[in-house]
Amino acid sequence: MKCVCGNKAVINLRYIGKILCESCFTTFFEKRTRRELRFLKAIQKGDKIAVAISGGKDSSCLLYMVSKVASQIPDVEIVAITIDEGIRGYREQTLESCRRLCNELDISHHLYIFEDEFEYSLDRMVKISRENDHGKNPCTYCGVFRRYLINKYARELGCNKIFTGHNLDDEAQAIMLNMMQGALKKLVRLDPLPHSIHPSIVPRIKPLRNLPEKEVALYTILKEIPCSLNECTYSGTSFRADVRNFLNDIEWKRPGTKYGVVSSLEKMLPYVRNLVDEKIVECEICGEPTSRSVCKACELLKEIIKV
Ligand code: SF4
Ligand code: ZN
Ligand code: ZN
Repeated sequence: MKCVCGNKAVINLRYIGKILCESCFTTFFEKRTRRELRFLKAIQKGDKIAVAISGGKDSSCLLYMVSKVASQIPDVEIVAITIDEGIRGYREQTLESCRRLCNELDISHHLYIFEDEFEYSLDRMVKISRENDHGKNPCTYCGVFRRYLINKYARELGCNKIFTGHNLDDEAQAIMLNMMQGALKKLVRLDPLPHSIHPSIVPRIKPLRNLPEKEVALYTILKEIPCSLNECTYSGTSFRADVRNFLNDIEWKRPGTKYGVVSSLEKMLPYVRNLVDEKIVECEICGEPTSRSVCKACELLKEIIKV
């Protein structure tokens, strides 16, 4: 398999009918990331940006690309935030990758730990939940508490934006999942353009949302960006894992389907937004912003502590 330039190919991008070598692929990948950053007006003079990094390939690639682009824009500060949920046999290695990458890029790294913040590690929450038949997936606890801490600490660090490493596959999965569950509020929250809905909620941006997982992984390997390929003990147990397999099957048969799902949301958003009336208030227990009287994090904690 040869690239148009004649070099040995490293990837076949079936959705656009291109076969690329290492050099053409990295140029293509960087161009698209820069274009997406420009489209989202993601990095602007005076920004202080919190990049949420887990140590996996997506967020490590994101931090690498963002630090590259931000170094050309005056007066931009980047900090990295990592959440240690307490997942034995998984998190230790990813934390080491986060430290290594931040050291290499000279970016300050802030670590927050579930057990320090909520008194329970994710492993313990899952154990309690399973023993008491709460019927919740580990990813529910993980996602809610992680988002809670990232927003809280990004705000406390004075950041005006949060970047997360969600790629095209993640976005397509989230859209399908929310559609299957009729979760319109969550669907509207996937709006790619950054906007402030409440002073206590730091706008989130996903600069890799149009880049397929496979390409992010390949770029990370080719550039030797420090990251861990360890897989979480709990992955594969969720509804999302089923949706991921389903989308991968269709993408194989009909390349470009994932792009189709993501661009459908963009076309639907102006209409769906009108159906959702979301008021943000302060949580009665912790004071963090929420659309209900008690935030989801406090609700889940109450359920665990009650046992
Ligand atoms: Fe958290 Fe689930 Fe991801 Fe594991 S797979 S890190 S539990 S969201
Ligand atoms: Zn080439
Ligand atoms: Zn709360």
